[in-house]
Amino acid sequence: MAMKIWLDDKLVNADDAKVSAFDHGLLYGDGVFEGIRVYDGRIFEFDAHLKRLYLSARVLRLAMPMPEDALADATRQTVEANGVHDGYIRLVVTRGVGDLGLNPFLCKRACVIIIAATIQLYPEELYEQGIKVVSASTMRNHPMSLPPQVKSLNYLNNILAKIEAIDAGVSEAIMYNHEGYVAEASGDNVFIVRDGTIYTPPVQSGSLEGITRGIVIDLAAGENITVVEKNLTRFDLYVCNEFFLTGTAAEVIGVVEIDGRAVGDGAPGPVTTMLRKKFFEYARS
Ligand code: PMP
Repeated sequence: MAMKIWLDDKLVNADDAKVSAFDHGLLYGDGVFEGIRVYDGRIFEFDAHLKRLYLSARVLRLAMPMPEDALADATRQTVEANGVHDGYIRLVVTRGVGDLGLNPFLCKRACVIIIAATIQLYPEELYEQGIKVVSASTMRNHPMSLPPQVKSLNYLNNILAKIEAIDAGVSEAIMYNHEGYVAEASGDNVFIVRDGTIYTPPVQSGSLEGITRGIVIDLAAGENITVVEKNLTRFDLYVCNEFFLTGTAAEVIGVVEIDGRAVGDGAPGPVTTMLRKKFFEYARS
């Protein structure tokens, strides 16, 4: 079965899903997106993702071309048309076709692209063994430059950090903000465990308010583990007992090495393993 993509107002064959060279999503990275999982035929945390998408658009003064329920319906149709039972949805809204200038208001209509496919970010062994990371020298965008809550099509800051991870032969790069505090990984949120307490940087540090992050905080609270949102330094990452990342694609994954230093005893710790399991069960419940 050929893959179908939702483009603007209908499903088209993947080969026909083309956008204009004048689309400001392409010319300027002007747009917003979401990555969403499908577990067991259900779109996971769909309302939270739609909410974040519309809020991101609002901050960018991007007029969404359809109301939330219509976009939700289009997404469901795309999932169904591609027979996706367990997979990943990429919902993209670009500013649309304009001229060669920056002015976004000359773009007549935002362009909607919905892709429903499969994904596995990391092979299963890496979840068991844990991943290695490095500290990126690329600083996270200043929160006053671009609110970190906005999930925009401008990922160059994260891509520069990701290149540092690839060059170092590790899976992820940890990004720090202008004050030297931990912000997030290039595509995931950061958590550590020290002396039984979980710590994660506040959103103001320059991290996306991850939907997985929110769920993991709630799951930890349900297990009576204290979660503290606090600015973290490189020191905190070096001396923690456990370290893990969260994100839609990665779910919960342990970090066992940072900048050549072993984390804890060099294997994913008990809190990480428990939360990964709880998340797995929650997502499929
Ligand atoms: N930070 C960044 C930069 C991301 O791209 C993502 C993935 N969307 C996350 C954090 C994790 O967010 P979520 O749990 O909502 O996928």
